[in-house]
Amino acid sequence: MCPRKYAFRYLDRAESEHTSPSLVLGSVVHSAVGWFFEERVGGHSPSVSDALDICHADFAAAVEGAPVRWGRWTKADLLEHAERLVRFFLQEEHDLRVAGVEERFEVELRHPTTLEPLPRPFVGYFDFRVVGGEVVELKTARSAYSGIDIASNLQFGAYAAVLEDIDAARLSVWVIVKNKRPRLQKLPVVADPDRQRWFFDAAMAIEKAILAGHFPPAPGWMCSSCEYQKQCLGPSASGSLPKAA
Ligand code: SF4
Repeated sequence: MCPRKYAFRYLDRAESEHTSPSLVLGSVVHSAVGWFFEERVGGHSPSVSDALDICHADFAAAVEGAPVRWGRWTKADLLEHAERLVRFFLQEEHDLRVAGVEERFEVELRHPTTLEPLPRPFVGYFDFRVVGGEVVELKTARSAYSGIDIASNLQFGAYAAVLEDIDAARLSVWVIVKNKRPRLQKLPVVADPDRQRWFFDAAMAIEKAILAGHFPPAPGWMCSSCEYQKQCLGPSASGSLPKAA
């Protein structure tokens, strides 16, 4: 989403200045839910309370790493919120017939019209493969996804482009909307030719920019939570305005 951020993270291996509560939340909810279904796939019978213990432990580990920019959150509030989301999802979907969790795949990509190969394979991990062939990508978000959020998302475009190659029947994005009363939004991602062409055109343009060493900043709403904010904008950059004299 921001070429400069890409360069900080993947080329310079720059140290992250902070992490955000929403990243911590997404990661611990994801790992607790993933653990629950992995246990089920392994023939065990975990309870929701076991998953909440995992959530607790992962939360403690997550807040030990890079400093968290807490903002309006306290540690206790965020943990309670994470537990609420895990409990909600598992109460709704505990009987989901999952066949695989975090399955890795690797696919060589070729532009569907020009047949030009992309310079590297696409490597990914689907969150869940459900019995019957559906693959599910799980997200947490502050508000529900719109049609344009799905259509302009490179990750979903990429997944939709390889569904046949990885023998998946269809792709769904499930969004846990993180309200006080959470809800689950289920969105199908359709692999139509327009979406495929858009994804491949975008991916090839991005690859060309990487090869040419073009990493311009893309300033916008992401800057306020960017973990390389000071390295990009300067050491005096901060989310708050200077006080009036
Ligand atoms: S501060 Fe903004 S422009 Fe700079 S790297 Fe981060 S997201 Fe990109």
